[in-house]
Amino acid sequence: MNCPYCSYPDSKVIDSRDVNEGVRRRRQCLSCSSRFTTYERLQPASLFVIKKDERREEFNQTKLLTGIRKACEKRPLPAGAVDKLADDIESGLYQLGKAEIPSVIIGDMVMERLKSLDYIAYIRFASVYREFTDITVLKQEIDSLVGGEAEVSQPTSQLPLLPDEKLETVARRHQRNRR
Ligand SMILES: [Zn+2]
Repeated sequence: MNCPYCSYPDSKVIDSRDVNEGVRRRRQCLSCSSRFTTYERLQPASLFVIKKDERREEFNQTKLLTGIRKACEKRPLPAGAVDKLADDIESGLYQLGKAEIPSVIIGDMVMERLKSLDYIAYIRFASVYREFTDITVLKQEIDSLVGGEAEVSQPTSQLPLLPDEKLETVARRHQRNRR
């Protein structure tokens, strides 16, 4: 890495720390003493997606992000939540350590994450991704969403009256009763 100020090819590392699966290094040029920062990140081996018709396609982070963004359009999500979700899924895929991954697995991972992030986005994604081949499942999901909303009667601006742990127990009891 050449110095960005004088192009001298050598520098010494004065500080080094781990950041998000990479290393951030603070460097000092051995010629002009200017300081600059470099980031080192592991370049993952290429990953292929096995499509439903068995064709292989190189994994495309932009495509993944576009699909998730579409599902989350106009939803009240905190800034960066969508990008983080896509990032998490990408690193999750690489962590599987496989060269090829069926598109179904990726879709399921996205759905799993969206479900806990935003239910409407989840339903939107599911309806596109499942291509209505699984309409029964989709209907079940919507039914449970409608049922779930009916149970949550308190306004969202109000803090829950029960601690989360207790709410979970109540929710679980409801689920058991419904079966
Ligand atoms: Zn320099």
